[in-house]
Amino acid sequence: MNRTAIYPGSFDPITFGHIDIIKRAAGLFDNLIIAVAQNNQKSALFSEDERVEMIREEVQKLDNSNITVEKFSGLLVNFAKEKQSKIVIRGLRAVSDFEYEFQMFGANSKLDPELQTIFLPASEKHHFIASKFVKEIARLGGEISAFVSPNIAQKLRDKIAN
Ligand code: ADP
Repeated sequence: MNRTAIYPGSFDPITFGHIDIIKRAAGLFDNLIIAVAQNNQKSALFSEDERVEMIREEVQKLDNSNITVEKFSGLLVNFAKEKQSKIVIRGLRAVSDFEYEFQMFGANSKLDPELQTIFLPASEKHHFIASKFVKEIARLGGEISAFVSPNIAQKLRDKIAN
């Protein structure tokens, strides 16, 4: 059986924490679809197309042909069905992630009981990386090379400068 997993998120922008989850998830399934959310409550710094493009650039470096990047809008359960996937991957950092993630899992399970969520714990090295903080540090002119690739760091600086 060909197993496809979906890793949804805003990825605004993609960080080393996301990349770590992508690598680990890609090793567990035949196909991994990174699903970039369009309609998020958070207002994004980068447009959806920019976020997709940045993820593609980062994923290309992994040289792993079973990873694809797609946009999605609407309900995750519908997107998963369309892709014939029953597996959602989410990363868990601190306890603070847990409540939100658990609620999302609950809502998705009600909408589609067949959809399973698999949580991968953040690696120790990436525990404190969050897109939100990376953007904040970049805005304040701080060093972000420990959190995002040089390519993403440059795009962040350009975006903030404009
Ligand atoms: P969302 O807006 O859906 O929370 P994010 O882009 O913030 O999207 O995160 C997507 C997923 O990646 C979430 O499951 C989040 O917990 C996980 N994630 C984000 N940063 C890290 C990290 N440093 N280590 C592990 N998982 C992470």
